[in-house]
Amino acid sequence: MSFDTLGLSAELLRAVAEEGYSKPTPIQSQAIPIILEGRDVLAGAQTGTGKTAGFTLPTLQRLSAAKPTGKYRPVRALVLTPTRELAAQVAENIETYGKYLPLKSTVVFGGVSIGPQISRLRKGVDILIATPGRLLDHVSQNTVDLSRVEILILDEADRMLDMGFIRDIRKLIALLPKQRQNLLFSATFSSDIKLLADSFMRNPALIEVARRNTAAELVDQVVHPVDRNRKREMLSHLIGKHNWRQVLVFMRTKHGANRLSEQLEQDGISAAAIHGNKSQGARTKALADFKQNKVRVLVATDIAARGLDIDQLPHVVNFELPNVPEDYVHRIGRTGRAGNEGQALSLVCVDEHAFLRDIERLLKRDIAKVTLQGFEPDPSIKAEPIVLGRGGNKPGGGGNRKSHNAPARRPKAAQPRFNGQNNGNSNGSRRSPAHTGQRGR
Ligand code: AMP
Repeated sequence: MSFDTLGLSAELLRAVAEEGYSKPTPIQSQAIPIILEGRDVLAGAQTGTGKTAGFTLPTLQRLSAAKPTGKYRPVRALVLTPTRELAAQVAENIETYGKYLPLKSTVVFGGVSIGPQISRLRKGVDILIATPGRLLDHVSQNTVDLSRVEILILDEADRMLDMGFIRDIRKLIALLPKQRQNLLFSATFSSDIKLLADSFMRNPALIEVARRNTAAELVDQVVHPVDRNRKREMLSHLIGKHNWRQVLVFMRTKHGANRLSEQLEQDGISAAAIHGNKSQGARTKALADFKQNKVRVLVATDIAARGLDIDQLPHVVNFELPNVPEDYVHRIGRTGRAGNEGQALSLVCVDEHAFLRDIERLLKRDIAKVTLQGFEPDPSIKAEPIVLGRGGNKPGGGGNRKSHNAPARRPKAAQPRFNGQNNGNSNGSRRSPAHTGQRGR
């Protein structure tokens, strides 16, 4: 299968060829022809599958084929994403693939001043990429007109629901013309997603590429058992020994991410932290420095890492395992993208064994355990409860799925959590917007 057979225009094929893509990914070869027909699509695809090009290319083609009459350029395609980073990423993709087409796009999200967004919108754009909160701000200020939208795209819809955007999404959908094409992309098809899809989609084509939670297949995964207070030493050792130049490190909390990044700097390893308490400018700069190899280590929390697309990221390290097993899959999906092999290492201490069991259950396989010489865990050290939200830091999310044993993160700060044994206590609010600090605004 080649791109030429999908029905895309010469302008788009040229842009794709310049990106160096030799053939479409499965989501692209399945979704593109159907979207070009004008049908609604409900697609199960995770990041890393090439889903963005899967909806961007046919959307650009449809918009360029039918130009609106008159001088005024109304928003004709609207892409909603859960996070600012993902919005920026999608916008970048649209610019790239649409560079030979006379279409205009812009992105709006919170955390930056609204003024420049208003003037860009006023000039007229064909495609608008937005996080729901900031878009509603524009709606309430009357600085955007959504009454001419022909194509609605919900990207990472499951995350938007997890982050509590359902009401915002419904409000926005109510502002759109009834007659339109709807595309919904989601890593998972929960009953909430199905309910949402049923509420606004018309006989959608169902496309599911990678099965749920199989993003990991190209990724070489290893667990290094280690004592809790030797993790940092182990990380510095691994970075130095292998001379890693670009490592993405995951922490459970913002506070932990800040502290680790400072400690790595003290060890002489350049590092930056990225999480929801940082200003948008600081997050963008940290990511740019990391991409340009100015910092070796980017320390991230789960929510901040959503949507990060760093080409061929070779190493992901779980300095702390996530207590929501699905987050593990998202984390390691940052490496081994689009056919490149990657490596995901998890530094696991005795406190985290229950988290590891949950993750292995979700993956339906064991992860190899490799004890590093000189870092053999001390068997006399007993498991301690994992405290989330220490030091005024709020949990980055929680788990409300009944399938895992690890208890949910609680919205309250400084609340002792988890003894590794207790079960069935998973009713915390997952990614409650009030506690993420980045609400997609
Ligand atoms: P996504 O799943 O949309 O986040 O895309 C993941 C990565 O795959 C991005 O870095 C894209 O540039 C890349 N990509 C998208 N389509 C292709 C393709 N057909 N061949 C190779 N890489 C691709």
